[in-house]
Amino acid sequence: MSKMTSSQASTPTVFDVQRIRADFPLLARRVHDKPLVYFDNANTSQKPLSVIEAVDNHYREHNANVARAVHQLGEEATAAYESARDRLARFLNAPSRNEVILTTGTTQSINLVAYSYALPQLKPGDSILTTVMEHHANIVPWQLVAARSGATVKAAPIDQRGELIVEKYVELLTPEVKLACVTHVSNVLGTVNPVREIARECRKRGIPLLVDGSQAAPHRPVDVQALGCDFYAVTGHKMLGPTGTGALWAKREHLEAMPPFFGGGEMIREVRFSGTTFAAPPHKFEAGTPNIAGFVGLSAAIDYYASVGFEAIHAWEQQLLHYATERLREVPGLRIIGEAAEKEPVISFLLEGAQATDLATLLDLQGVAVRSGHHCAHPLMQFYGVPATLRVSLAFYNTREEIDAFVVALLKVRKLLL
Ligand code: PLP
Repeated sequence: MSKMTSSQASTPTVFDVQRIRADFPLLARRVHDKPLVYFDNANTSQKPLSVIEAVDNHYREHNANVARAVHQLGEEATAAYESARDRLARFLNAPSRNEVILTTGTTQSINLVAYSYALPQLKPGDSILTTVMEHHANIVPWQLVAARSGATVKAAPIDQRGELIVEKYVELLTPEVKLACVTHVSNVLGTVNPVREIARECRKRGIPLLVDGSQAAPHRPVDVQALGCDFYAVTGHKMLGPTGTGALWAKREHLEAMPPFFGGGEMIREVRFSGTTFAAPPHKFEAGTPNIAGFVGLSAAIDYYASVGFEAIHAWEQQLLHYATERLREVPGLRIIGEAAEKEPVISFLLEGAQATDLATLLDLQGVAVRSGHHCAHPLMQFYGVPATLRVSLAFYNTREEIDAFVVALLKVRKLLL
């Protein structure tokens, strides 16, 4: 959370959130006969009409397979699919569109790096460095390739505030580390990690750095060149786009050296039983028919972000984060987990005497959608000594009034449970 005084926190800047909300049809829904308050955005975001219409229009007007047919529809579908790559390259400020692999999401992006970049070079005694605050998607693939190769996985610690202990991370960057990993933003705590500083330390030691950008890309501009990392993974459904879309940006030198992950159609140059040759990156890593309509939708999502602008999004979301944090602090027995100095709008908390899942179930009956559980972050839960938290995750289409409604619902639910 960037530092703000309480008077700043209670004076909203002008941001026409109602105009934004009108673009998101689902936000007008009622759930259990109550107006929906959707605070589960870190899980998946809602979609603006422009995304929904782009997908619909694709199937109505342009549907065909990509890169295979010379007919008009085939060309249109290929152009639309490839324009998602152009947009993602600009969105991430990648030096080249050929460094952007279209995937099904962060999980596939990280597995691609694990099996295609890490596994071929890992040997007994090597290690991969990750952190205690990662989503399982940035832990388990490393464990799987470590188990196959005899390498180990090390985890850098965090402090009670939920901040990475950067000195410890750097201490763990020893010569046997073949790849370092870190999340840009924690999906549980909202903590923003100092990726530039980490990347600088990795570069000094010649260790490549993979960044899980799943929770950063929906909230802030990403510039992979300025960050100085080697791999950056994003997932489309958390950034206004359809499910089953995502991307991996990787430095050209890595992509050229990496063998393909999946084999099949469209990733080859020539197939011979005597030996098959592969297409150049990015297509070398894109076997089979992709989620074409999904990427058409993701293009529209990226355009939508551009039309609102991350400066305005960030300013509004930070106001919401401060307001929600203030309001939650008023609730008796409530403990916020993770209070890093720089956060995106995610708040995890516990309520004394109540189970997170019971709270989430009762909140749902009040029309409030939040997530309870371990958030695919077991090691982080272990660090805090809790089985689960309740997580509120906000987006720029949320409002202060929704936060008020949520707090009223939480107080009501608390009364029922305690
Ligand atoms: N990494 C982080 C930080 C996440 O929050 C998530 C999703 O919750 C993932 C990775 C996995 O994303 P996906 O399931 O879209 O592949």
